[in-house]
Amino acid sequence: MLPYKTINEAETALNGTLTYAETLWFNYSANKSDFILYCHNIIFLYVVFTLIPLPLVVVELLGAAKIARYKIQPKVRLSFAEIMSCYKAVIKLFFLVVGPLQLVSYPAYKFIGIRTGLQLPSKWEILMQLTVYLVVEDYTNYWLHRLLHSKWGYENIHKVHHEYTAPIGFAAPYSHWSEILILGFPAFLGPAMVPGHITTFLLWMVLRHIEAIETHSGYDFPWTPTKYIPFYGGAEYHDYHHYVGGQSHSNFASVFTYCDYIYGTDKGYRYQKKVAKVLRTPYEYIFHSTPWCNLSLESIIHVATPTQALSKRD
Ligand SMILES: [Zn+2]
Ligand SMILES: [Zn+2]
Repeated sequence: MLPYKTINEAETALNGTLTYAETLWFNYSANKSDFILYCHNIIFLYVVFTLIPLPLVVVELLGAAKIARYKIQPKVRLSFAEIMSCYKAVIKLFFLVVGPLQLVSYPAYKFIGIRTGLQLPSKWEILMQLTVYLVVEDYTNYWLHRLLHSKWGYENIHKVHHEYTAPIGFAAPYSHWSEILILGFPAFLGPAMVPGHITTFLLWMVLRHIEAIETHSGYDFPWTPTKYIPFYGGAEYHDYHHYVGGQSHSNFASVFTYCDYIYGTDKGYRYQKKVAKVLRTPYEYIFHSTPWCNLSLESIIHVATPTQALSKRD
């Protein structure tokens, strides 16, 4: 709640004219408590995870040929009932775990000092803070995700998220309830280290939801703007992690590729990509056709053409 009753009062106190965005923020937030503003996070959670995956889900159900060619694992197509079952499970998870978690996190959010008043942050402040949040979450998430792939972590927690070997947008938050708690921590770590304005915080939360939906979308579009972000993994990168499944020791990072590169956990993925490029075929078929990982690239090229290997698989 803002400590000013009118815009004039705010301008006098701040010794300047409010920008257009600040006037909008004043009109919207002046009479709302900090708790209500914080709870927008929960509303955005439901709205984003309901609406953003929807277009590709409709495309998948309609089987639109122009879009279908960008599907990463084209042989896997979920029915309407299967998609709805995933969506219902996610909404249930939000209602029972994520929503309550957000509510009990409110004191922590107040403690770290996220502000709600005027002035609003500059574009540079927002950009710099979002960059820090992204890097901090990606790095922390990488190690927690690796931990979840330990024998105990996978069997007791993470295997739920891997039920979808060819993920869809709705499956991004589909996981064991404790995984929500574990992987929720990195999302708050950045804002705790560099607290900003609540508008930046809400924007951060929405962006990371959208990023998770994109990487689980199951589609790899060449025109995706994220392709221009350096070291960005994207849908195909994380799809491979789901595709390999429980034995996966590859592509743990959620956003960027550099952690996997530095710590050597993308070797399998890069090898499959290399072979796929030589044989001009999707990695999906390569992985299933023969234990390629035990062979050198040269021997693969000499012993198999795509046609021969295809007949092996069939
Ligand atoms: Zn995993
Ligand atoms: Zn995933």
